Amino acid sequence: MAASSSSMLSRLKVFVPPIWAQGLQHIPKFMIPLSHKNNQINSWNLPGVPESFHVFLRREDTDGTAIAGNKVRKLEFLLADAVSKNCKHVITCGGIQSNHCRITALAARELGMTPHLILRADVKNVDDVGCEGNVLLNRMCGAHMYMVPKSSPYHTELNPRMEKLAKAIREKTGEESYLIPVGGSNTVGMFGFLMVFEEMQSSISDITDIVVTCGSGGTVAGLCIANHLTGSKFKVHAMTVSDDAKYFHNHINETLSELGLTEVRSEDILDIIDGYKGRGYGLSTEEELEFIMDTGAKTGVILDPTYTGKAARGLVSELQNNPQRFQGNKILFVHTGGMYGLFDGRINRLLQERKTPNSSVVHLWSDKCDAISIS
Ligand SMILES: *Cc1c(COP(=O)(O)O)cnc(C)c1O
Repeated sequence: MAASSSSMLSRLKVFVPPIWAQGLQHIPKFMIPLSHKNNQINSWNLPGVPESFHVFLRREDTDGTAIAGNKVRKLEFLLADAVSKNCKHVITCGGIQSNHCRITALAARELGMTPHLILRADVKNVDDVGCEGNVLLNRMCGAHMYMVPKSSPYHTELNPRMEKLAKAIREKTGEESYLIPVGGSNTVGMFGFLMVFEEMQSSISDITDIVVTCGSGGTVAGLCIANHLTGSKFKVHAMTVSDDAKYFHNHINETLSELGLTEVRSEDILDIIDGYKGRGYGLSTEEELEFIMDTGAKTGVILDPTYTGKAARGLVSELQNNPQRFQGNKILFVHTGGMYGLFDGRINRLLQERKTPNSSVVHLWSDKCDAISIS
């Protein structure tokens, strides 16, 4: 049974922005807390970082279990908007292993709404969809999944399909749907990362640079706009994994104008780092997967193949080859989550074959309780 409308409404909290954000236009009226915030910043001995630099980690990946990662913070605002507008369905879109779709589906269910996911993948029939990684969790919460060709562009294909689906749902049930753009990256969702900045501000006074993975742009938009509004102490860097610098500057400039910030341009407040996409969005190289395994073995931090693995690898490479790009030597990496993407099977073979000093070793210890000799 879906939760009743009144219990959904009782989750809404009136949103009061920090003082420095109060002059903005289009401030959301409500939010719904969905995440378990973790305000720690810890030192991170990421392999390969030159000695002159010090890298720290902010965990946005540990703010929940299945409802965890940077998308949760956007959904705190987006789904509050949906609830306040009395929508019974939530529609969004992304790649087959989209973290955003998985988190949206689970959080929609938590709030008593029905999730509909338009997923990009080249499958010939529904049995080919499988139940790996994020798809397992989509299935566990009974999300409706609509498979569309992998090459479908967002503006001309996915967005119109979301509208068509909303119409079909309205005609069948008389109920309204709430549409969330790819990655939850619009002005409403961006407020989630204004709030992340506000939370961490007091604990990062020594930091010189902030680095975050950039997929649809909303996360870094929130961070660089907050940094600008509070006096631009940090240099903010976006490590791209999908589109290029031009696309993201356009996206952020649109957000700035919706917020009424017409005197500043994305180009002035954000450094976009291209060049670490590897084989392309959602695809991995062996070197990238090796880097993820090595980081896990040396630091206990699990990165994901689509976003944070590429970005952290890009960070190490830039620190080694392009150190002047950074304002100083105290770098904060924001871990945006995505771990379930590792469970789609791509890394399994490498893990079993891997034989390096840091790889895990599986021993067979015989049935008698003998002493074990460790080679
Ligand atoms: C979506 C996502 C990102 C990118 O965030 P955007 O706001 O889309 O730029 C980074 N890391 C993970 C794990 C993600 O799922």
